[in-house]
Amino acid sequence: MYFVTYTYEHKENYGLLNDDKSKILPMDLVLGELEKDVPATLSDFIETYSDDLLEDIKAILAKFEGEGIALEEVKLNAPIPHPRRNVFSTGKNYVDHVKEVKSLSNGDTSIPKLPVFFNKIADPAIGQGDYIIYPRGLTEELDYEVELALVLGKDGKDIPAEEAYDYIFGYTIVNDVSARDVQVMHGQWLKGKSMDTFLPMGPYLAHKSAIENPENLKIECRVNGELRQSSNTQHLIFDIPYIISSLSQGMTLKAGDVILTGTPAGVGAGYEPPKFLKPGDVIECSIEGLGVLRNTVK
Ligand code: MG
Repeated sequence: MYFVTYTYEHKENYGLLNDDKSKILPMDLVLGELEKDVPATLSDFIETYSDDLLEDIKAILAKFEGEGIALEEVKLNAPIPHPRRNVFSTGKNYVDHVKEVKSLSNGDTSIPKLPVFFNKIADPAIGQGDYIIYPRGLTEELDYEVELALVLGKDGKDIPAEEAYDYIFGYTIVNDVSARDVQVMHGQWLKGKSMDTFLPMGPYLAHKSAIENPENLKIECRVNGELRQSSNTQHLIFDIPYIISSLSQGMTLKAGDVILTGTPAGVGAGYEPPKFLKPGDVIECSIEGLGVLRNTVK
């Protein structure tokens, strides 16, 4: 199952993509068929969802195969345009990336002993085709970071690693857009990573049942067609269960929370000379099974 949040005829709604991802079945139709209440947003739906519904929803999708709104008729938004809380982010989680960004860490290229968690504000997160607005006068080092994002499906605290997957609802792609000079100037990463439009997300949210092995997915980023980042989620330093378990120790995670898992090598700051973004650049982030997230800098 692939969930989307979209605007159609000036109204935002959410729904399910059909198997070939050419059509959207609005969720009010799906839940209406099941005689269920229709939560207002995908985030609200995730809060109420349980896997008991999985087979029923798949049956409705099969029943309406070939029907729905054509994808080209809608504007795809971030699957979760307004994360209820700030986005939890993981820094320095691929070895090759840790080594390439020593300029951002006072020359430190040591591998972290625990996940480097930080906070990113993304309200709204932007969707497929939306512009990343260049903050003119504030940065000269705008950068990209393709990342696998986890969306949690239920609340949990002190989650054991072996149960971590039970807490995941699904997966999507994000671009953790970063102003490197602002990150460094402020000593902490919050501002350099939280300016408006700095979190493209999507194009869709894959339910976990659609992704066989999230720990072995090809992950890539291209800028104007040039391959800049190319790795695999098997190279995460702290894997998905570890991230969830570690973050949840003593801290309640909630359904709908978005957790970024880190970016591999090949960000603009990692090149010599650096390859920072400029207006007009087209960034394509892709992860196996999760599509291609495409945004232009404006
Ligand atoms: Mg990042």
